[in-house]
Amino acid sequence: MDKQKLLEDVRKKMQKDTSLPLKKGATNLVFGDGNAESEILFIGEGPGFYEDQKGIPFVGNAGAFLNQLLHLIELPREKVFITNVVHHRPPDNRDPDQSEIDAYKPYLDEIIKIINPKIIVTLGRFSMAKFLPYVKITSVHGRRHVVNWRGMEIVVIPMFHPAAGLRNPDVKRQTYEDFEKLRGTLDELRKEENKVKIEQMKLV
Ligand code: URA
Repeated sequence: MDKQKLLEDVRKKMQKDTSLPLKKGATNLVFGDGNAESEILFIGEGPGFYEDQKGIPFVGNAGAFLNQLLHLIELPREKVFITNVVHHRPPDNRDPDQSEIDAYKPYLDEIIKIINPKIIVTLGRFSMAKFLPYVKITSVHGRRHVVNWRGMEIVVIPMFHPAAGLRNPDVKRQTYEDFEKLRGTLDELRKEENKVKIEQMKLV
């Protein structure tokens, strides 16, 4: 079945779910945005003011920096899919708490299963903790981790949250470097895929 249609079904289910803990204080559901067929999925933390207004993730200052990083490595934003660990804005942009993250988890898991990405880039510590608990972002950022998530083998690359890069020039510099590494990983992935395609053509 068409991934876009499956995602739309999840979005509709979320819109009807009155049990979601942050729904009451939010203007819009911020489900996720981008290409359902993407091989790469970005997972942030939660919507801020502008995301809540527009219903689209990463459209504020952190989003402008993320767009710049994607542009730098020639990965158009419309080619990737971007979502968050919670899909409604926490009041006053506070961090989501564990019970809130748990409440949105089944939906995030459905999104991941539908997209079935080869690479997940986690933006910040909340999405990193989903796949790599007990690690420190300062020790592992930018590095590839092969994770077996519900029987799916996924390469998880933890990155600093773009807002952290905007606050701290050293984190910003490291984020540029991490995105350059991501470009290398994507190039390798494409080479691998081409090799497989050529091998398959030889067999026909
Ligand atoms: N920060 C996030 O983590 N997600 C957004 O969608 C916007 C800002």
